[in-house]
Amino acid sequence: MIELKNIEKRFGDNLVLKDVSVVTREGSVTALVGPSGGGKSTLLRCINLLEIPTSGTVRIGDEELTFHPGGHVAARDIQRLRRQTGMVFQNFQLFPHRTAIENVMEGLVTVLKWPAGRAHARALALLEKVGMAAKADAWPATLSGGQQQRVAIARALAPSPSVLLCDEPTSALDPELAQEVVDVLGQLASEGTTMVMATHDLRLASKVADEVVFLEAGAIVEKGPAARVFSNPVHQRTSRFIATLRQEQAAKSE
Ligand code: ADP
Ligand code: MG
Repeated sequence: MIELKNIEKRFGDNLVLKDVSVVTREGSVTALVGPSGGGKSTLLRCINLLEIPTSGTVRIGDEELTFHPGGHVAARDIQRLRRQTGMVFQNFQLFPHRTAIENVMEGLVTVLKWPAGRAHARALALLEKVGMAAKADAWPATLSGGQQQRVAIARALAPSPSVLLCDEPTSALDPELAQEVVDVLGQLASEGTTMVMATHDLRLASKVADEVVFLEAGAIVEKGPAARVFSNPVHQRTSRFIATLRQEQAAKSE
């Protein structure tokens, strides 16, 4: 379970997250949606502490940290929380000079100090899960965007994180390549992987999300079960935004 309590994040004078509180159930998928610049990426980065919240509390499972303006957080504590998370980025960010399987093994070997043989076996099993075992020895540059993203998902899952964080995982991909990533994330969701994902992809959100959080200008406008928020949003800004996404999606698939 993930709990974010009263998260604020400032960059200088710019308050980009304003008193954001979200609870996600174990095994559930939460979609962060909303206009560009609304704070989705920053919120994800506050969960894995790539950004340190200015104030508020982050809890993942039994690990919890509370932040105060000007307060000091020990690197060890940050590591402890970060290790509960895996992250998938819009642009895959695979290591270009490592093969697909080496990318997946990397963290197991260098961070968790697994023996190479054990890491290789786990990496291969994960590549199988995302349908990429046949490309285990391929270089990232020879793979399509959809294939690279599937390898990146396997890499993020390698250390068995409690939560998979995805930042616009399909938005750099053409619709047909996005579909293979949607399918993999859908399969992970159905297996009970806890996920929080920022996405503009309605197909992805409506296929995998249990809960939707609509974030605008750093504040939560609306949150609730995905089926309800998508079909019957309470706030006009939410319904307008969803209508815009639908139009964009329709235009793209024409
Ligand atoms: P989204 O992912 O919803 O598009 P972001 O979280 O990327 O939104 O950005 C939210 C706001 O925070 C934007 O105004 C952005 O310019 C600002 N911001 C994000 N990262 C930084 C940073 N490292 N330094 C300063 N401002 C930032
Ligand atoms: Mg973003």
